[in-house]
Amino acid sequence: MEARDRRGTRTLRLWVRRKSGNQVLICSGCRERVREVAEIREREVRDLPWRKYQTFVIIEFYRVKCPRCGLKVEAVPQLPSKAPFSKDFEDAVGLACESAAARSVARQFGLAASTVRAIDLRYLERWAARRRKPVLRQIGIDEIYLGKKQKFVTVVSNLETGEPVWFGAERKEATLDSFFREELSPLQRGRLTAACVDMWEPYTKSILKWAPACKIVFDKFHVMQHANAAVDEVRRAEFFRKGGQLRDVVKGKRWLLLTRWVNLDGPKQQLLNDLFRLNRRLLKAYLLKESLDRLWTYTYEAVARKHLHGWIDQLKWQRLKPFQKLALMLLKHQEGLLNYCRTKVPFGVVEAVNGNIKSLIRRGRGYRNLRYLLLKAQRLAALKLEVVVLRRAA
Ligand SMILES: [Zn+2]
Repeated sequence: MEARDRRGTRTLRLWVRRKSGNQVLICSGCRERVREVAEIREREVRDLPWRKYQTFVIIEFYRVKCPRCGLKVEAVPQLPSKAPFSKDFEDAVGLACESAAARSVARQFGLAASTVRAIDLRYLERWAARRRKPVLRQIGIDEIYLGKKQKFVTVVSNLETGEPVWFGAERKEATLDSFFREELSPLQRGRLTAACVDMWEPYTKSILKWAPACKIVFDKFHVMQHANAAVDEVRRAEFFRKGGQLRDVVKGKRWLLLTRWVNLDGPKQQLLNDLFRLNRRLLKAYLLKESLDRLWTYTYEAVARKHLHGWIDQLKWQRLKPFQKLALMLLKHQEGLLNYCRTKVPFGVVEAVNGNIKSLIRRGRGYRNLRYLLLKAQRLAALKLEVVVLRRAA
């Protein structure tokens, strides 16, 4: 049957009748078979378009008398939720949301953006329910800043698959406690071998409490961020201390000083050398940072420990305050720094996961629902993994 609505959209209505005798009924409450039909009902849902027609199907379904649940609606595969859309239609919207923002999908399907997000969330929930979850052995824990309203969120990720596994509001010890308590069984907690974290005490306390066998490995990325901050502090101090000529030489060299020597080309290395000739303290700071970077190249813990202590000893007569502060921090956290010798974790995964989440937020906005954001980021990571697997197979 064909009709036009007020806006001139051409619509098509189809009635779906079931064959008599085809009577395998499933209760939507307990998913068990039931026999007794209480009444027959109909529902109209939007389905995939046919040609230029917006298509609706009217599906007949039963209310059943379940011996366990009482009066219930039967489970109908084409009707995944109470919303007026068929499963095929929801799948098409969900698929479109994988490569476009909710607002543009909304325009494409003639729906409200909030409706598209609700459909997408159900689509992702169905995907999450039927997939096999990868085993969690190495985890990354970091915080991410979501803005003024939600502030910090703790992100736990699977370092082997590069997907986020859990989000929790705030970044307290109690936040991570609830991950261990609610997300993992004692067996799963016992399987954890390594956790890559920032030197943030609330997290390490929680790990020690819930998974004592899990080795804490401090993220090189974060440690080097502290080292870069120390170099920058020295640069600023020198900038203000010395006047005239040197001030001009130091000016604008911030980025160069924060870049590793191997990543600079000839002319840029020359620029730094000119600077170092005029200021030995900056040279010393830069060399200290470069030398610290080598801490993660060792396989033997004793040798790495020697390198770390040698590094700290070098500071003695330097009067480089920012580095003395850093040394105290490293000394306090040395076990977690040296754990990397025996327990290798892939650095950079945590940053990549955070980067993906941030780009999702930038593209989509409207992620007031953390569950939706998590599923979205997981789907994104799984899609990337599928692509990699396909490439390997080819
Ligand atoms: Zn039931």
